[in-house]
Amino acid sequence: MSTVQSLMSDISKLSNYHKEQLLNYLEEDLTLNSYATEVTKEVAEGRFSKGKVCPFCGHSKILKHGIFHGKNSDKQRYKCQNSECKKTFTEYTLSPAYNSKKNLKQWLLYAKCMINGYSIRKCAAIVGINIATSFFWRHKLLEALTNYIGVGSVSGVVEVDETFFPESFKGNHKNSKNFVMPRKSRKRGKEVKKRGISNEQVCVVCSQDRLGNMITELVCKGRVKHSDLQRLFENRVEDDAIFCTDSHRSYIKFAQNLGIELHQIKSGRHTDGVYHIQHISAFHSNLKGWIQRFKGVATKYLQNYLYWFKWLQMFSDDKDIVKGKNLMVQASTAITESVIKDLQTKQAKFV
Ligand SMILES: [Zn+2]
Repeated sequence: MSTVQSLMSDISKLSNYHKEQLLNYLEEDLTLNSYATEVTKEVAEGRFSKGKVCPFCGHSKILKHGIFHGKNSDKQRYKCQNSECKKTFTEYTLSPAYNSKKNLKQWLLYAKCMINGYSIRKCAAIVGINIATSFFWRHKLLEALTNYIGVGSVSGVVEVDETFFPESFKGNHKNSKNFVMPRKSRKRGKEVKKRGISNEQVCVVCSQDRLGNMITELVCKGRVKHSDLQRLFENRVEDDAIFCTDSHRSYIKFAQNLGIELHQIKSGRHTDGVYHIQHISAFHSNLKGWIQRFKGVATKYLQNYLYWFKWLQMFSDDKDIVKGKNLMVQASTAITESVIKDLQTKQAKFV
């Protein structure tokens, strides 16, 4: 009897429950296989959509340079003709899975686990990698996704508001020999005690226009100043923009400086016709609710989580099954050089 025949004979003896488990396994495996092929094709198209360029130096004069025999598939290799670079590369060079010892199917499975919002530990168990690798993969994918999406721009009626997160140095101590805690450590999740907004909180400014374009950035420590707002929005707002904000004073000077029409909604009043900040208020409460699952995010990683949330909002209409694939395609299309030591020495980046 052939292997398949003997397998089928064994399967026929299984209970319905186990047959269903097997069916799920086969479906997932087949989907991942076909997705791995699609991802490779789409990344190559995305990377080279504006002509082929070297990922290391951006030079456009490149030549084919044999075939790279990879774990997942054979890939065309290229060589940069810039005499100062001369590096060879494929369409996967400087993407999250580049140089990974694991195969693309495992990366796709990981992306799917991320879409499901699983913990680092659960992702690791499902994909078959260790916990440190799981953490690294999460942030590699998020940094690449951040590069892919970019800060973005807004137009028309734009709702803007700021929200605060406690500054957190979580994870810094064990990873860095040189790290000195700027202040006494707070117990995880413990609220900042000082009343109002202090420099122990970091400010995130979110904005959303009525077309669904979003900007979500870590902007400064403590209260936002008009100069912070200007730095964030300059060259990222269309001329026709009308800003809706709360009555915080910093928005007034900022709007004057950039020549933006401003509607400030007095606290207690929720709407002034079409001018309101209800969407952005809902956005903030959803963000706060979503981020709770991570039990305190280190400030240096906050931007990654902001972009993760933004990505989930941007593509919320996609079917779950294609989200993982799209996440992998987009993260791999961006050119990202991130290695473990970069994560260890990473600093919080304010816009
Ligand atoms: Zn080059």
